[in-house]
Amino acid sequence: MESLFTFGEKINQAADRALKLCSDKFKEIDSIQEYNEQKMLKAFQKAQITLASFAGSNGYGYDDSGRDRLDEVYAYVFDAEDALVRHNFASGTHTLTVALFGMLRPGDEMMCVTGMPYDTLQPVIGIKDSSGSLKEFGVSFSKVDLKNGKPDIQGIYDNVRNDIKMIYIQRSRGYDTRDALTYDEIKEICDTVRMKAPDAIIMLDNCYGEFIDKNSPLNAGVDIMAGSLIKNAGGGIAQTGGYIAGRKDLVEMCSYRLTTPGTGKEIGCSLNTLRDMYLGAYFAPIVTANALKTVAFSAALFEVLGYDVTPKYDAQRADIIEIIKLGTPEKVEAFCRGIQKASFIDSNVTPYPAPMPGYDSDVIMAAGAFTLGSSIELSADAPLREPYNVYLQGGLSFNTAKIGIMSAAQEIEDLKSIQ
Ligand SMILES: *Cc1c(COP(=O)(O)O)cnc(C)c1O
Repeated sequence: MESLFTFGEKINQAADRALKLCSDKFKEIDSIQEYNEQKMLKAFQKAQITLASFAGSNGYGYDDSGRDRLDEVYAYVFDAEDALVRHNFASGTHTLTVALFGMLRPGDEMMCVTGMPYDTLQPVIGIKDSSGSLKEFGVSFSKVDLKNGKPDIQGIYDNVRNDIKMIYIQRSRGYDTRDALTYDEIKEICDTVRMKAPDAIIMLDNCYGEFIDKNSPLNAGVDIMAGSLIKNAGGGIAQTGGYIAGRKDLVEMCSYRLTTPGTGKEIGCSLNTLRDMYLGAYFAPIVTANALKTVAFSAALFEVLGYDVTPKYDAQRADIIEIIKLGTPEKVEAFCRGIQKASFIDSNVTPYPAPMPGYDSDVIMAAGAFTLGSSIELSADAPLREPYNVYLQGGLSFNTAKIGIMSAAQEIEDLKSIQ
């Protein structure tokens, strides 16, 4: 097709080559997308969604059947007994926090079996001291580290005990360089945990993991999982929110924390959020597939251009993050400039590195998103430190996200001609 965006010959040729390399991967992603779209269609039909389901409610939100049916939709697609899907969840971290405080009690131990949890969870747990942490409420934390970037199955077997209340698994890499966990890896962890702790609650941080394959982690032995609606699960349409899904008794405990013991899921008005959330659910498998294609293409393109990338374009993916090892701060900045330039929103803005709370080096971020902070939309960020990796994620639509990736590559290419 004739392109409205011009790139140098080198980038055009590399992109053609990258697309050819990705052709089998794209077929596989198409098949995952189609399956998950069908499952979503069944979910809507089963929950009998009608136009009236979008109406929303105010005040206490009693008898908000649109809100309750949205829970049913997500419960169905995730093979969960029950789900709690609410715009009131302010972020993924907040959703996970509600789940943790909902289920854990003073004297309980929470053990993370995938090493150190995501940065923003550390003050919640009390790994970093913070007022109001789980630690302050008498919940202790322990962990089993990863081994060579993979779950240490023997270490898990050796350390898990039946008096541990919760076993916690983080699926996505976060800001680590390890791989995200596939369904099979999650299953292996759960099977191992169950040998030692048949009664423990197995909880999964499923951020970025929704709709990336055909199976739900709840079928792998996970009891309850949570994630953000401004990542995969909200399809780029939900403007805020999160979900918790899994065993009915556990979802109920979480709902008591979100609202109050006794009222749980019965209250909480949905205002005017429901149509966006339903439309987001509809788009979630489609948009996640587009993001998967975008990151696979970026892996192929930068590999063709001679960079080290992880995961490889043909790897089995379990999240929508790509790490590209650019090696110099100039290239990291150029990459982010290129992504920003090719965005739908804020394309005239130039990103610069700046200090960020919680980081010991400057951080640069590129995002031209419809929803502030949405990382299902094409975005890139990087701490300005060795080894100068850039983290790329998202892409609502492959066709235009591809322009963003090529623009990033071109911006790096142009550095050479300046030097
Ligand atoms: C994004 C993410 C979170 C937290 O989500 P926020 O919406 O940024 O609070 C937690 N865990 C993992 C693995 C994530 O990727």
